[in-house]
Amino acid sequence: MPKPVIFCVIGTRPEAIKMAPVVLELRRYSELAETTLISTGQHDEILLAALATFGLKPDADLGIMRHGQTLAQVTTRALDGIAALISDSKPNLVIGQGDTTTTFVAALAAFYSSVPFAHVEAGLRTDSIQNPFPEEFNRRVAGLVAKLHFPPTSWAKENLLKEGKDPLTVFVTGNTGIDAVLEAAENTRTPWFPNHAGRVLLLTTHRRENWGEPQRRIAEAALTLVNQFPDTLLVVPMHPNPQVRDLLTSILGGHDRIELIEPPEYPNFVKLMQRCTLILSDSGGVQEEAPAFGLPVLVLRDTTERPEGVHAGTAKLVGTDRDRIVEEGRRLLGDGDAYRAMAQAVSPYGDGHASARVRYRVFEFLGLDTPDVPDWN
Ligand code: UDP
Repeated sequence: MPKPVIFCVIGTRPEAIKMAPVVLELRRYSELAETTLISTGQHDEILLAALATFGLKPDADLGIMRHGQTLAQVTTRALDGIAALISDSKPNLVIGQGDTTTTFVAALAAFYSSVPFAHVEAGLRTDSIQNPFPEEFNRRVAGLVAKLHFPPTSWAKENLLKEGKDPLTVFVTGNTGIDAVLEAAENTRTPWFPNHAGRVLLLTTHRRENWGEPQRRIAEAALTLVNQFPDTLLVVPMHPNPQVRDLLTSILGGHDRIELIEPPEYPNFVKLMQRCTLILSDSGGVQEEAPAFGLPVLVLRDTTERPEGVHAGTAKLVGTDRDRIVEEGRRLLGDGDAYRAMAQAVSPYGDGHASARVRYRVFEFLGLDTPDVPDWN
């Protein structure tokens, strides 16, 4: 009997980071199944750099990235490419992760070819298919098609059950991003640290919905906090978009306790997080990773599809109002009890063994012997 073939499809850096532990885990059992890593190259260079961190590179790279291409062009190029690979290799299962256009297209291509699809980081939802755009649509379609759902938390599982998914196909695994972040924290030997003895604040803002005025208010709030707490240094990895850079530089540039830096590669970013006292961020992944290190996050968005952290007390949703950000930041930096309450809250996002749980259920689905049964607590 030939070994079953599993396709793992990624397109962007966050997907690369969260899929890498799954690929590595499946390949630990390469005598049982063959795992092929496919990149659509939706965000090519930063994806490859993140993958390299894990010693991985794509087995097939569709290289669909074009400057200024529309979502329709991303979709059609990726669909053509993935469909051709499925037709050539006839995989037994396609695995996608999260909510990108690549994930939606991988699900659709698998569906068209009657190949089962498994969805990692399933079940995140907002109440509007328009928001975030197009991610909410992408993950809903992935969920519609999936034969196996791997929600990171019980909240995400409930969302899937409310939509009528068969409970026997839904398995809470934790977030594979936590497997990745713990591994990077453990294995990174030569991190970059800012040269500063006091507390370090980290600001990341890249979401399209915050471009322009909201980002201006965010930057002004961060500046106010640095000025009010003279022991702090603010580190700001700058998104490549020139508009974002110009705005951040115009408000935060030239300050002796603010470092505007190129976005660090993943292992260095992880080490930087560990060195920080407080994070202000609109990133999804950072909201999940920071509590793994007991690090409070002020979430610079009005809504989040990751309410578990807010409920657990590891993150606080503060939106983009300048005064609100300053007030919450000041409370955490000035009040040790308030800070400890957030820092000591237990992360709801997993224990670092999510990929083993994914591997176990995938092998079970494929009718393979399932060695090394993971702990499901
Ligand atoms: N990240 C990184 N360097 C940076 C900023 C983020 O390696 O300068 C990592 C971060 O640790 C997380 C992922 O990239 O794993 C999150 O990506 P991003 O914030 O771009 O996207 P989102 O999670 O919002 O989709």
